[in-house]
Amino acid sequence: ASPPPAGLAPVDTHCPYCALQCGMTLVPDAAGLFSVAARDFPTNRGGLCRKGWTAAALLRSPERLTAPLVRDRKGGAFREASWDEALDLVASRLSGARARHGADAVGVFGGGGLTNEKAYLLGKFARVALGTANIDYNGRYCMSSAAAAGGRAYGLDRGLPFPIADIAGAEAVLIAGSNPAETMPPLMQYFDEQRARGGRLIVVDPRRSATARLATQHLQATPGSDGALATGLLHVAIRDRLIDADFIAERTTGFEAVRRIAAQHWPDRVERITGVPERQIVEAAHMLGEAATAMVLTGRGPEQQSQGVDNVSAFINLALALGKAGRPFCGWGTLTGQGNGQGGREHGQKADQLPGYRKIADPAHRAAVAEVWGVDPASLPGPGLSANELLDATAPGGAVKALMILASNVVVSAPAAGRVKANLAGLEFLVVSDIFLSETAALADVVLPTAQWAEEDGTMTNLEGRVIRRRRAVPPPDGVRTDAAVIAALAARLGSASSFAEGAEPGFDELRRASRGGIADYSGISYARIEAEDGVFWPCPAPEHPGTPRLFLDGFATPDGRARFHAVEHRPSGEEPDRDFPYWLTTGRVLAQYQSGTQTRRVPELAAAEPGAYVEMHPQTARGLGLAEGDLARLTTRRGTIAVKARLTPTIRLDTLFVPFHWGDGQSANILTNAALDPTSRMPEFKVCAVRVEREAA
Ligand code: SF4
Repeated sequence: ASPPPAGLAPVDTHCPYCALQCGMTLVPDAAGLFSVAARDFPTNRGGLCRKGWTAAALLRSPERLTAPLVRDRKGGAFREASWDEALDLVASRLSGARARHGADAVGVFGGGGLTNEKAYLLGKFARVALGTANIDYNGRYCMSSAAAAGGRAYGLDRGLPFPIADIAGAEAVLIAGSNPAETMPPLMQYFDEQRARGGRLIVVDPRRSATARLATQHLQATPGSDGALATGLLHVAIRDRLIDADFIAERTTGFEAVRRIAAQHWPDRVERITGVPERQIVEAAHMLGEAATAMVLTGRGPEQQSQGVDNVSAFINLALALGKAGRPFCGWGTLTGQGNGQGGREHGQKADQLPGYRKIADPAHRAAVAEVWGVDPASLPGPGLSANELLDATAPGGAVKALMILASNVVVSAPAAGRVKANLAGLEFLVVSDIFLSETAALADVVLPTAQWAEEDGTMTNLEGRVIRRRRAVPPPDGVRTDAAVIAALAARLGSASSFAEGAEPGFDELRRASRGGIADYSGISYARIEAEDGVFWPCPAPEHPGTPRLFLDGFATPDGRARFHAVEHRPSGEEPDRDFPYWLTTGRVLAQYQSGTQTRRVPELAAAEPGAYVEMHPQTARGLGLAEGDLARLTTRRGTIAVKARLTPTIRLDTLFVPFHWGDGQSANILTNAALDPTSRMPEFKVCAVRVEREAA
């Protein structure tokens, strides 16, 4: 084969999409076009899913933005502008909003796909250059409930407190509300290995998903009933003497209050709440309790609910009571979704946090970060609005008048999305930086075209807490800048008191310093170490520290070293079926699309595989509604209506409908979803609401 053009060579990097961050090599051909080769990396061991295999198509998409776009008036057409004109306009409009309404009137909305360096820079930009408290990111929609529950139980939140390879060594695994066989297929090799060794797999899901089909036991629970199910399992474990009294006494606190609540969750009552037969509840509790090693893994199912934190706490309680935490091949963890959902929240993109997972309200934490930034701690704003509240505040008369969005398509991914679209369209000023003209970018006053995944260097932190390197394979197209360059240019125009690194490695070195002494301590991690060691697990507080693949083996990260039980009562969902809206609606993902679809809908092979949204329903449910396979079904909730094709399958509960959320416009599942928030994590209730369905007239 002819060699690639000068300057292009195969580059080892990672997939642009989910939190597994599979290793891949981008290989250029003689024409300079890249293809993907799988790479043997610990998370994927040579496997990739369909999204990963086709990712190189993103680099040659004809829809790529390559010049800043501005509008001369609201509702007018975009025209191309120079970078200087666009950046001057953004700086002057953000400054103007700040001068007229105060610093907090400017909001910043980040993304869980941003590299650690960009997440760090964006948090610093909001607090130092704009002086606003109001920065949050779409990771709030991803694992904030798991983060809050993990933090309060263990004193530290890292998606998985163990490497994913440990899954293969667990005798029993319970997965609640996650479908990795579709969302992270290469991960399934660890579950395959686990079952091949005689291990048991229990899956909790209202659908018999691709993962549930592989399970030893599928608990097909009613949407919104996860916490009751977990506590019901605990009831059986206590009743049948499966709990680990020594572990509870030596390594935990707070069990008695949990025991009292579990006592009321007798299995026939839990069967009535969850729809899971009593026999299955008893069997599952025994599978977990009788195993020498076991894991409990939660996903968006129990987490994306208005009682998401308590749901996760109920599963953590179960793991702790069985003595299955802080031991090899044991523990609770969450299967994160977004590529950098973990790192995205460690470095200051979240409304309540500063780099290193520090608390923005804590004076000592503020002082530590302010010193690195070279600013007065008193000048740093306090906690701001969470993602959903930030979008609410963009409504007419709301506190936020101007918004800057990086790499997030909230018009598709936020709950009750119709309200978000109307709010953003009416803002005084909206600037969006992205690689494509997403549904959100299409509403902006200014769109800034930025570099993507393989066009710049950076680090990501995957679902295990492993910090990895993404490497640049090709320069960005002419006319495109990196987010770091955009942030630095805007900070300079805004007269920032602190400078902003444009290069990835200098940005990482500053991030390391800012994280020193924090919970997520990266100070011992360097680009060179990541290179040499296939990634480094945080915390890693010194260059000679080996990193921490397995947390909590010697004690939990609480002041007394003990894990904390939390007594949680089952609460009904924010909305339940009634006469007007008689079915449960739940939303989720499909194999061929990723998140809001901004990238994957533009990959021809993926678009052909899953061209649009649909509603999955049981054939018996469909018959009662006069619907056949492929008919257009009109779905209505208290927030809005969409019409999508019916897909019939006996693998879903009779009372439940499922719609994947990757599409916009008239097919957006999030037009329907409920923005009821968890009181602690502020996670919206994407997974549960009440819906009516009718046959759409032809
Ligand atoms: Fe791996 Fe996730 Fe990319 Fe698929 S989307 S190749 S599972 S990182």
